Amino acid sequence: MHEVFGPGGFLEKCIVAGFDRSTVSSDYEYRPAQLEMAELVHDAFESHHHAIVEAGTGTGKTLAYLLPAICSGRRVVISTATKSLQEQLYQKDIPFLQKHFAPNLKVAVMKGRANFLCISKLNQMADQGLLKGMEELDAFRQIKDWAKLTETGDRAELTFLPDDSELWGKLDARRDTCTGKNCPSFNPCFVTGMHQRAQEADLIIVNHHLFFADLALKQDDFGSILPEYSAVVFDEAHEMEDVASDYFGRQISNFRFEELARDADQTLRLLHLGTPSLLRKTQRIRERSRGFFELFPPRDGRFSFLRNEREAFLEQNREAYDALATSLKSTETEFAALTAKPEELTRIARRSFELRQELSFLFESNERNFVYWYERRNKGVFLTATPIDVSQILRERLFEQFDTVILTSATLTVGGRFDYIRHRLGIDHAKDRALPAEFDYPKQALLYLPRKMPDVRDAGFPAKAADEIVQLLELTHGRAFCLFTSYSQMNDLFERVRSRVSFPVLLQGTAPRSALLERFKNTEAAVLFATASFWQGVDVPGEQLSCVIVDRLPFAVPSDPIVAARVRALQEDGRNPFAELQVPQAVLSLKQGFGRLIRAKTDRGVLALLDTRLQRMPYGKIFLESLPRYGVTHELADVARFLGVNGASGRPGAKSASPS
Ligand code: SF4
Repeated sequence: MHEVFGPGGFLEKCIVAGFDRSTVSSDYEYRPAQLEMAELVHDAFESHHHAIVEAGTGTGKTLAYLLPAICSGRRVVISTATKSLQEQLYQKDIPFLQKHFAPNLKVAVMKGRANFLCISKLNQMADQGLLKGMEELDAFRQIKDWAKLTETGDRAELTFLPDDSELWGKLDARRDTCTGKNCPSFNPCFVTGMHQRAQEADLIIVNHHLFFADLALKQDDFGSILPEYSAVVFDEAHEMEDVASDYFGRQISNFRFEELARDADQTLRLLHLGTPSLLRKTQRIRERSRGFFELFPPRDGRFSFLRNEREAFLEQNREAYDALATSLKSTETEFAALTAKPEELTRIARRSFELRQELSFLFESNERNFVYWYERRNKGVFLTATPIDVSQILRERLFEQFDTVILTSATLTVGGRFDYIRHRLGIDHAKDRALPAEFDYPKQALLYLPRKMPDVRDAGFPAKAADEIVQLLELTHGRAFCLFTSYSQMNDLFERVRSRVSFPVLLQGTAPRSALLERFKNTEAAVLFATASFWQGVDVPGEQLSCVIVDRLPFAVPSDPIVAARVRALQEDGRNPFAELQVPQAVLSLKQGFGRLIRAKTDRGVLALLDTRLQRMPYGKIFLESLPRYGVTHELADVARFLGVNGASGRPGAKSASPS
């Protein structure tokens, strides 16, 4: 590793030789933390143990885990948080490694099936005229042309297609509607191709969703998605608990019933089996599910659905519940009675059976490790059972099954320790290391902590917070993210601030996330008001983002059903949920949020936290100990000096963020 990452090593030589500036940052230089990380990961692969590495932005952690993974000679799964991070790895880092280190390296990218085109559906749809309107017809023609050229069939190549395209929903390669080996297009199928590439690959790049979907399938003995592998690297590992919780839980929604009815109708018509009696059956599923889901209270939000609440619901609505289950059952029976039993209908009947089982699980089971809850969001009602604690599941299914699992992220430690992530994920044995920062935080960032703010729960807080935000924006000349922990706080402060500043002010929810981010990057002096989804995974290097303002410490909402259940479970165990769960969770969120500001060695800017609990409460110390060592001030005048406003220049008398 030293020969590659060390001073004067291969990576530095690549740059001196002047090649590959497009793939490796042109200002590449030897980074001790990167070398250390590569050695730690290499050691884990060689000695077959788990490792947890906290590596801040700028460490160059991708190469520091990819190269040891390649050197191990083992088949390694690399799991990233998002599809765009998968693309980044595949298009930027992998070609560099193939060119200079491992010309024969075979790499496969795997994504969920819904990302790929189903050739069979495309052909059927071309014949059947199931398209609605000119717009859909036009999009369909473009997809058809693209299908002749694409090698992957991955919808990411269809840049014109909106995220929520209804047409794509009719064409994607979801398992639900796939006839597998019986399909005439099985060989040229894009999903078959993806699996074949993965079978032959040394590295398989997935996202956490696909990884845990696979692990959950293995648990239920429903086969698997990924081929055999011997080690895993999780990048952005701080997201593992949330994603694992989703995949080891159960969920049904009104959409799933609608989709089942839609797919059943479409299949019956395509197979020329759409008799009035069968179509009435699918119509009945649709009507009964609509009636059933309307029984849930109309307000949006997430609500617990405890055992007694579910029992009371069933007592009141038993008829609608039974009618829904019966509509599924009788469709299955009717399909089974057909003389011809095409594979497509057998699959639909199986989906119907699974839906019935899940419905009954969600209403009639009472598993101790599950929290039952429902959510109403836009036009959807989602009934969910989520594991309260995934640590035992992951211990058994992941950490005891594989001898080398590497976790890395910029936000894993709380107060310099890995206890929280270890407990939450069930990692009993692993080497861990928090690497030193690559950035000069005391010089690059100033943390402003105003002293004279009311408590965040005080009625006067929003007005005072608006004053502070306006003053900060004037000093930074916009170019800021204002991050909130709830939509209501975001909307309230947005209304209070927008008419008082002259900068373009953007609001989350007014456009898709990626479009809003692009607008922020391309609009001079823009300010963005946003909530959770902008706290992480957002990269705006340079002056365009010069200030991050956080209104309050990002504690998870205590009334949220999952948070409440996790708190209760710890209390019942005689533990301290505030210290062991709520504070660490908020610390990691704050580290993520503030982490948006400094993305490169040349970045400079101001962070502001308007919540004085950080200064007043004993737990504030843990937050300060966990953050990088920013300069700290309580005075706006220092912020002005730091930014060189009004003729002031240079850095203020900033001090280290470590508590005195
Ligand atoms: S194998 Fe399945 S996903 Fe592939 S083309 Fe056939 S039906 Fe579609």
